[in-house]
Amino acid sequence: MEEKHVHISVSTENLAFPEFIVEEDEDTAKKTLIVIDMQNDFIDGALGTKEAVAIVENVKKRIKQYRDHGDEIIFTQDTHDENYLDTNEGKNLPVKHCIEGTKGWQIREGLEGEGDLHVIKRSFGYTGWEQFHLENVEIIGLCTDICVVSNALIIKALYPEIPVRVNASCCAGVTPEAHEAALKTMKSCQVEIIYSFLRNQSEM
Ligand SMILES: [Zn+2]
Repeated sequence: MEEKHVHISVSTENLAFPEFIVEEDEDTAKKTLIVIDMQNDFIDGALGTKEAVAIVENVKKRIKQYRDHGDEIIFTQDTHDENYLDTNEGKNLPVKHCIEGTKGWQIREGLEGEGDLHVIKRSFGYTGWEQFHLENVEIIGLCTDICVVSNALIIKALYPEIPVRVNASCCAGVTPEAHEAALKTMKSCQVEIIYSFLRNQSEM
């Protein structure tokens, strides 16, 4: 059962008794879990890595924790057309991936649930975060050093006063080194880095 937060409104007469003043509880903020690009192509498809495969179970558990609390969950889906190789991204990364409608483009089965929100994303960073009126954000998914960092910094820019966390145990990078470097960069930019699960060494 979720704990109820009680707010006592204070009239001017009560100000002589500061013990009656209850601070606004940060826990009243809407919580949002943002799940970046957990698509087959980034897990074990065109751009898959063993580190990405290794976080799938953690991601599943984290989503369940948010879902069980009734919190908001937003999935992003990297999306390209058949002309991908002609795009700027394609010229720099000539590996066709996440072509709309393909299996590689699909979000990993078993992650999305009823009531979750979903955005199609055609570049690294999604620029429409303002529509969600975010109040407290945790970001997980793939890849740490490309789309996770891009979206974390866009959200920091749009919402400088809200807590923004990246859960490193539910993220993987293009390489382990790139993952660590991106975590350092985000930490410098005051994104809180958390580890909610221990990594299973045998999976790495
Ligand atoms: Zn892409």
